[in-house]
Amino acid sequence: MGKIIAIANQKGGVGKTTTAINMGACLAVLEKKILLVDADPQANSTSGLGIETLPGQPTVYDCMINNVPAADAILKTATPNLSILPSHIDLVGAELELVSRMRREYTLQTVLDKVRDEYDYILIDCMPSLGLLAVNALTAADSVLIPIQTEIYALEGLQKLKNTISLVKEHLNPKLKIEGIIMTMYDSRLRLANMILEEVRQNLTDTLYTTIIHRNSKISESPSMKAPVIMYDAASTGSMNFMQLALEFLKRNDDEKGGKLAVRS
Ligand code: ADP
Ligand code: MG
Repeated sequence: MGKIIAIANQKGGVGKTTTAINMGACLAVLEKKILLVDADPQANSTSGLGIETLPGQPTVYDCMINNVPAADAILKTATPNLSILPSHIDLVGAELELVSRMRREYTLQTVLDKVRDEYDYILIDCMPSLGLLAVNALTAADSVLIPIQTEIYALEGLQKLKNTISLVKEHLNPKLKIEGIIMTMYDSRLRLANMILEEVRQNLTDTLYTTIIHRNSKISESPSMKAPVIMYDAASTGSMNFMQLALEFLKRNDDEKGGKLAVRS
């Protein structure tokens, strides 16, 4: 049964979508079967992987609101082993439409339950809020991966997210854990970035990944090339950072077998 991981942070622009696409693609290259669930109405994961949702093509909205089976909405991407449950701007309406439903927090969990056996990992790219859609993602998930940008006030807001995680754990999903915290957009040339990194390291000793994602132009260019950075420029720092992150993630999950094979070959 696939492990479900919500990639969450209520701040926008911290690297959630970039982590979802690129960690997903690296895990897929390491022979893991990956489903990326785009749970943000902005649909950046969907477009960043070159997926266009044509009229009539069901999306995560239809799965959550109109009972369309996930299997009917999931699409293959150009990266082998990486599939997507696409999003659409319609999803904006889902928050309101869910409010009056029974077991509204469990809607996404019910959708994903039916496909989870087909994947090793299901990554949910959350929208930047702690509203009902994010709560749905946290309720469906086994764990939460939190990207934080290496900038001043990096830790601000983290406590609020942790409080939400605790509330979801207490009331909706007792098994929920923190998968790890990942520092993104690190610029080693900036003295401030190094000071922030030091501060974060002192505060988050247990959950912080050793791997740091550096600021890299190939990462920011790759969505317009409609490909994960590993497919766009495999030798770039960005690509190597995400591969390292994927390997560290598999190690934490005691699931390195595929990774070792792929790296050796
Ligand atoms: P979120 O999903 O949290 O809103 P994104 O992943 O969309 O954040 O990232 C915000 C912007 O920063 C995007 O334009 C993305 O391409 C860029 N970006 C993210 N990570 C990096 C990085 N490591 N290097 C360069 N640009 C990055
Ligand atoms: Mg995003």
